[in-house]
Amino acid sequence: MKYFEAQNLRQTFDTTQINVSFQCEKSTMTSIVGPSGSGKSTVLRLISGLNEPSEKVASEMKVFLDGEEVSKKAPSKRQIGMVFQKHTLFDHLKVEDNVAYGLVSAGMKKKDARCLANDFLKQFELEGFGNRYPDTLSGGEAQRVSLARTLIMKPKLVLFDEPLSALDAPLRKKLAALIRNLQKTFGFTGIMVTHDINEAKAVSDRIILMKKGEIIWQGNAEDFDEKLMLQ
Ligand code: ADP
Ligand code: MG
Repeated sequence: MKYFEAQNLRQTFDTTQINVSFQCEKSTMTSIVGPSGSGKSTVLRLISGLNEPSEKVASEMKVFLDGEEVSKKAPSKRQIGMVFQKHTLFDHLKVEDNVAYGLVSAGMKKKDARCLANDFLKQFELEGFGNRYPDTLSGGEAQRVSLARTLIMKPKLVLFDEPLSALDAPLRKKLAALIRNLQKTFGFTGIMVTHDINEAKAVSDRIILMKKGEIIWQGNAEDFDEKLMLQ
């Protein structure tokens, strides 16, 4: 069994029927690319548990992570981290408390968690940002804080839904490289949704192409032919 396995992820909406299965090796990045509306975000939401499968398909839908079936667990118990296009930081909390939040929830003393958080921020080029509030951050800085907040919990799987789409092109490139470096340093397993094939190639080992709710190609990132996008 692979480190991550998604079996029969299914959801039906009026216009689209999503039905995919795929696997990922440990400590690899996989990008899911495809046109808008092809079901990429739905796939991530089914993996994380944010979307519940309908009763009809629930018994066939299984998600395995690190040898364990997580699909029956509550989203917060799956050890899956998420980073979205728009940051979901708490505006009323300082950066250090945003990053420390999960640790404190898990029972760590606030002072210790803050200390760890401030130290952790250095790896995200955010040294000294601990006392700032989210509304004083640029888009790129806020996304780096989001990454820190997610990764400090050492999730077994990190899901990224278009994490860079709201940023301008040069910054996107820089942050894509940062995500790849962090992935190599921390060794987490990641799945990233993006509509930018260059970003997918810069960040990932594997690429999955979705169209109309199905996987139409998957393979090594270097083997992805851009003509596939036109199919
Ligand atoms: P992508 O992320 O690839 O753009 P999505 O997974 O967001 O695609 O959506 C796939 C399709 O499912 C779209 O047609 C979208 O309108 C539809 N869809 C997604 N979520 C819902 C929902 N909660 N209710 C109804 N339709 C939905
Ligand atoms: Mg989407």
